[in-house]
Amino acid sequence: MKSRLTLEEYYSGIRNGDNVVLAQAITLVESTLPQDQQLADKLLNKILPSTGNAIRIGITGIPGVGKSTLIETFGKHITDMEKKVAVLTVDPSSQITKGSILGDKTRMEELSKSNLAFIRPSSSGTALGGVTHATREAMLVCEAAGFEVILIETVGVGQSEVAVRNMVDFFLLLILPGAGDELQGLKKGIIEMADALVITKADGDNIKRAKQAQAEYEHALHLLPSSSDRWKVSVLTCSALTREGIDDIWTLIQEYITISKQSGSLQKNREQQNIRWLNEYFNELLLNDISRLNSLHKTKEILEERVRKSEVPVSTAARQLLDAYREAIRGIKS
Ligand code: GDP
Repeated sequence: MKSRLTLEEYYSGIRNGDNVVLAQAITLVESTLPQDQQLADKLLNKILPSTGNAIRIGITGIPGVGKSTLIETFGKHITDMEKKVAVLTVDPSSQITKGSILGDKTRMEELSKSNLAFIRPSSSGTALGGVTHATREAMLVCEAAGFEVILIETVGVGQSEVAVRNMVDFFLLLILPGAGDELQGLKKGIIEMADALVITKADGDNIKRAKQAQAEYEHALHLLPSSSDRWKVSVLTCSALTREGIDDIWTLIQEYITISKQSGSLQKNREQQNIRWLNEYFNELLLNDISRLNSLHKTKEILEERVRKSEVPVSTAARQLLDAYREAIRGIKS
């Protein structure tokens, strides 16, 4: 087992803005070792009163849309205002392809040099659930360390967007100019989740195309039912190279935060997110526990075989499995 700091060392390191200790604390909360989880729980309890003060922003878009370049420029915009920014990622692709879509290139080199910035690549879990709860907890640790803005990046594929949407205050969808929705895998559902759309790479020859895309998406948004009567989803254009439009993104997010704080919807949204996290986390713990019941594995194998051969209806087999689970639990308790 790797050597760990004491609870007090983690806590004071985090609160004193020591980024090395912060990184170690995130490793601790990501750990699946039972002894680490105990310490992580204590740490999370201790920091809880110091969390919740950051603006939580999710950023998504397909590979190549310009996420890391934008986050670098946007992050620098934030550090230029003397604000601390943390960048976290949710990238479950690393489990599927054994190589991460986001992580295998040197990213955000400039931003990482700033002592007001902290960049953490995706944790390696075995499932999206594991990766997302590690990211949530990493976010809380960053908040306790005084980061005022948390950017959570995710690739525009799979379920990771939904997971990130459910842990942030503001969700930004990046879109390439001049490529159709189909090509970008932009499902209506994703557009509906966004609080703002940003057409990237609006520079040089691309400007005209970006403006055209902006008009098209504005039109498309009119046709969608409004998700909130308080907030109108805007379509912005920006260039991470010329920095044109970067400040507009920041201003828009500030505006959103002010409005949703005033109306109470920011707090309400976070409360609902907490309840959802509890349920998701509990389900995950339950599944982990079940997967450790060896006696259940055998019953499951037998039932799988019987279902495969259509010897027994799936519903019956599932209920038999539940009975076997209850039996196995009883064995543990007594
Ligand atoms: P990611 O895969 O979404 O993180 O995309 P990257 O940030 O790696 O960008 C993909 C490519 O687009 C790179 O070659 C970037 O140099 C380029 N790119 C990113 N942002 C801009 C921009 O604002 N303008 C232009 N012209 N190119 C950009």
